[in-house]
Amino acid sequence: MERKEVNAILVDDFADFLKANNLFQKFSIGNILCSKCEKSITTENIAIIYFDTEYRFCCDDNRCLEKL
Ligand SMILES: [Zn+2]
Repeated sequence: MERKEVNAILVDDFADFLKANNLFQKFSIGNILCSKCEKSITTENIAIIYFDTEYRFCCDDNRCLEKL
């Protein structure tokens, strides 16, 4: 995946992405947090992955998406 920002990511791609970046362990224990509200990111609420010195994640809450 070349793009650094991924919209409407597919769940399978998300799992692969996490594994490729050594984040899957962190994810599986609920330590991947929304960069805006700090809610745990799950396959249910992941909306956007973006890059800002490191990978950051945003949940699908409109209030969070508006702040991006
Ligand atoms: Zn959020």
